[in-house]
Amino acid sequence: MSIVTRFAPSPTGRLHVGNLRTALHNWLLAKHGGGGFLLRIDDTDKERSRELFVEAIRADLAWLGIAPDGEERQSARFDLYEREFAKLVAAGRVYRCYETPQELELKRKVQLGRGLPPIYDRAALNLGESDHEEKAEAGERPHWRFLLDRDTPIEWDDGIRGPQHFDPAQMSDPVVRRADGSWLYMLPSVIDDIAMHITDVLRGEDHVSNTATQMQMFGALGSEPPCFAHEALLVGSEGKLSKRLGSLGLDALREAGIEPAALVALLARLGTADPVDASLDAGALAANFDLSRFGRAPARFDEEDLHRVNAAVVHAVPFAEAAPRLPHGMDEAAWLAIRPNLAHVGEAADWWQVVTGPIAPPAIDDEARAFLALASETLAGLVWSDHTWRELTDALKQASGRKGKELFQPLRQALTGRDHGPEMAMLLPLIGRDEALARLHAAAR
Ligand code: GLU
Repeated sequence: MSIVTRFAPSPTGRLHVGNLRTALHNWLLAKHGGGGFLLRIDDTDKERSRELFVEAIRADLAWLGIAPDGEERQSARFDLYEREFAKLVAAGRVYRCYETPQELELKRKVQLGRGLPPIYDRAALNLGESDHEEKAEAGERPHWRFLLDRDTPIEWDDGIRGPQHFDPAQMSDPVVRRADGSWLYMLPSVIDDIAMHITDVLRGEDHVSNTATQMQMFGALGSEPPCFAHEALLVGSEGKLSKRLGSLGLDALREAGIEPAALVALLARLGTADPVDASLDAGALAANFDLSRFGRAPARFDEEDLHRVNAAVVHAVPFAEAAPRLPHGMDEAAWLAIRPNLAHVGEAADWWQVVTGPIAPPAIDDEARAFLALASETLAGLVWSDHTWRELTDALKQASGRKGKELFQPLRQALTGRDHGPEMAMLLPLIGRDEALARLHAAAR
């Protein structure tokens, strides 16, 4: 059976880097195994789900290059949940409860006061049919709990965390359905994982205790559970989940000039000890994606790393791909000259401005001024070609005795108005003869 994974966001907000990483890992895991990846929109909560977030989720995945092999929506599947729920009712695996949150809180406090674990006491299991009828007549509607099998230990071999053991006697029967009939996340998710033949559930470690109860739900619904793996959560470079990281979404990263390939390269390896390799495309990342490389320590997301990876990605972006984002008139030669200097494609416009001018007048001292007058005269006497920079600097070296920084820096300053930048040998042909002469002349005055 080939692998099927899913990413199951609730459309109650924008995705942040942590969710995107989970989505990417599920996709890479599926592609690694030559299988399928589903997008499951967990929109059972009608109040909080928004169509606009569904669209944003699709757009964010598309921007990263993640193409789901199918999309499902929980809100279209209530009939199935109803049918499966009826089976659990018939089998006595879900039961009706009426405690208010205040009553439950009180029970908890009493238990904790006695040094007992705050586990739901199953008082509602003692209600008889006549009690339920009475409650119904009084207008009380039940919520439903899943009855854990307390005699069977819960175990699974987690794809990242290794062997896991939970004692169901130490766990509360989870509420699976509210009094108004609406679903909590747990049961529909299991019903869907079964119906959609999900083979591998990869999600954040904040779901580990949900998995423990869901393991028994698979059994109660007559299915083998899928393989589970829980990845360590993301923390910022300072070692905590900062507010910024918790809400950092693609809009902000895109605006900061981050290329999808850079984010993919970084997120694919985040949580492993493997180096981030900006030259790997999604296919290569999928080919060597391996859950056993992931550790249990929190994965550090450092925005500076992302910008470094981004620069490496930008340095390899072909002209055709960059062109729509480049200033009018900037051609391939200019892109190739300028590209190695960019951390973000957007900065190309600054350098194109340096090429086309006007440039900021550089601060030149008297000594350099005389040298630049010589440079201007020398350049005027040269035949203009792609080798002009070499010829100019060779000639000036001879004539002035200058070398190294003394030779190159005043020329760069006069020709670009800046101290650093792309290779002059490549910039000079772009600036052009007349403009170069004019700039040297102006700086020499
Ligand atoms: N909708 C759930 C969430 O966003 C899905 C968790 C899961 O992957 O099962 O947390």
